Amino acid sequence: MSDHHVTGRCLCGAVTYEATSEHDAIGICHCTDCLRWMGGPFHGVDCKTLKTDGPVLWYRSSDHAERGSCSKCGTALFWKMIDGSHPTVTAGSLDAPEAMNGIKSHIFIDQKPGYYDFKGDAPRLTGEEVIALFMEQMKAEDA
Ligand SMILES: [Zn+2]
Ligand SMILES: [Zn+2]
Repeated sequence: MSDHHVTGRCLCGAVTYEATSEHDAIGICHCTDCLRWMGGPFHGVDCKTLKTDGPVLWYRSSDHAERGSCSKCGTALFWKMIDGSHPTVTAGSLDAPEAMNGIKSHIFIDQKPGYYDFKGDAPRLTGEEVIALFMEQMKAEDA
């Protein structure tokens, strides 16, 4: 699929964003950090570029990544690498959620709590598998 334009906003409207993505399906992260931050699994759209407007509060949640929320209403909006690469926007904040067709993958499935489950046969990767894949990708990008 070719790149397409993605826009969205937070609950109060103070933060808006524009992004480009090659994906038309969302990824779901079940890690304990996402659950704590979002109140549930992270529903995200992997993007190539991200331009934000408004009062984003960036929180450095690990040594390699940070998470962005609206500093007025607290809506969880973004995840990205410290260097700005690999931005992801939350699916719930999209202006046009109908552009997304289902789920492309589940990650950190080994950290998913038992009180919910998702239907469907999208690939389910453990944290270890995700990190290994990511390292491979980074190497390919450096080469
Ligand atoms: Zn807001
Ligand atoms: Zn996560």
